[in-house]
Amino acid sequence: MKFSNSYSQLDNVFYQRTSPAQVSRPQLLLWNQELADQLLLTGDFCRDKALLAQYFSGNRILEGADPIAQAYAGHQFGSFNPQLGDGRAHLLGEVLSDNGLRYDIQLKGSGQTRFSRQGDGKCAIGPAVREYIMSEAMYALGVPSSRCLAVTATGDLVFRETAKPGAVVTRVAASHIRVGTFEYFAARGDLESLEALTGFAINRHFPEITLNSDLDRSQRVLHFLSAVIDKQITLIVNWLRVGFIHGVMNTDNTAISGETIDFGPCAMMGIYHPGTVFSSIDTRGRYAFGNQAAIGQWNMARLAEALLPLIDEIPEKAVALAEPLIRQFSRDFEQAYQLMLANKLGMASLTAQSNEQAGGPTASLAEDLLAQMQEQELDYTQTFARLTLSLENAEEAAKLSHELGPWYGKWRTLLTDEGITADTAKSLMADTNPVVIPRNHHVEAILTEYEQSGDSREIDDFLTVLRTPYKLLPQTQKFQDLPADGDRHYRTFCGT
Ligand code: AMP
Ligand code: MG
Ligand code: MG
Repeated sequence: MKFSNSYSQLDNVFYQRTSPAQVSRPQLLLWNQELADQLLLTGDFCRDKALLAQYFSGNRILEGADPIAQAYAGHQFGSFNPQLGDGRAHLLGEVLSDNGLRYDIQLKGSGQTRFSRQGDGKCAIGPAVREYIMSEAMYALGVPSSRCLAVTATGDLVFRETAKPGAVVTRVAASHIRVGTFEYFAARGDLESLEALTGFAINRHFPEITLNSDLDRSQRVLHFLSAVIDKQITLIVNWLRVGFIHGVMNTDNTAISGETIDFGPCAMMGIYHPGTVFSSIDTRGRYAFGNQAAIGQWNMARLAEALLPLIDEIPEKAVALAEPLIRQFSRDFEQAYQLMLANKLGMASLTAQSNEQAGGPTASLAEDLLAQMQEQELDYTQTFARLTLSLENAEEAAKLSHELGPWYGKWRTLLTDEGITADTAKSLMADTNPVVIPRNHHVEAILTEYEQSGDSREIDDFLTVLRTPYKLLPQTQKFQDLPADGDRHYRTFCGT
């Protein structure tokens, strides 16, 4: 692994330089060779599990790594916390992948840092494996996401409600710069660091803005804000496409790269309902499935606020320049969302364009279906997968026509009227609607079983299926069943 670190070259107000904790008996539990290949991590090293365990538990430091804990702030459930930061993570450094892109390699659960506050700096095996499964599933679903390279057991206990075996998870992300990183410097009035961070983030994620020499500083920052907003819209539309509920969309968990990060309390929606919440601490439903776009916009407003001093010295002027971008979020989101729904129903952009304003034929068709799914308590993933299948399977078509009533015929008629053949619709739908997702009851059953037996074969089977979520493998069916209680009693927890 060839490190090429840039964040740790920034001024030391951006981080604490600190090493991961030593662990007692490191053991490699999960290893992602496909990702290792992309990171050009190959050869004998990857076959030596004991050696990998030493390096990815934090006991040994890879050559070229320069471990730091990053400083950041963040709005948590709407309230500002000026001092968060990596309380249990160490950024080892950055590597260039086979596609020339730069990735952060971060250990999580690797011990205390200056930012740990009351926390022990550790992570239990269950949540570490859960992050591995969920992030790999998201990546395969085509949703921008951080990924996991490894999960390593530490041989040490972590004390939660009970004592649990500890683990370190190795996370790979386009970067770990968050909205909260900008808020950290803005809240301190450290404009020099804020400007350095913005320049760094632009170079790393939006080099086309750096290359455009026609832009002055204010314009560059506005272009940056606009580009981050576009990535958030793409991200959230993809979450809504697959039924993902992030669960803790705090600004410190909002990566400006537009990747999904922090899988703590996340879950998948089964029965369609926009109010779906599983997180035990989200008692008011702030981060409910159907609220994610509004929260994404709220988070972008916090980013805009942090950037104001770089946009114009006169606050009113800066606000006047940034505000239209935040307002534009609503329109751009709605357009992308309607297009996504149209795709889920086999209709491509052309149809959706004639249909931009809500109320067009596709929009109302999609909205009617969602309303009906909510009313009849239908499963989101299964319904769209069955609609896809029904285009080539008369028996499925007859069943759905019975279950969904007139809506089904209206949909088929609209396809015909738009001149869209069943084949064309089917191929678009098959690429948009997964046949399998990491259903909550399967994830939990697999983690429980793994915690008891230590046998990772079931995880491997599950991952094999989740890695081809748009294709039926012989073993896919095993993971397609719906939870017996419709997930009515399912709860998730943060940071365990
Ligand atoms: P999260 O809810 O996962 O986004 O974490 C919020 C903040 O709490 C971050 O600053 C984390 O680094 C910190 N944190 C979470 N769990 C722990 C822990 N066990 N030890 C130290 N810090 C933690
Ligand atoms: Mg977090
Ligand atoms: Mg977390």
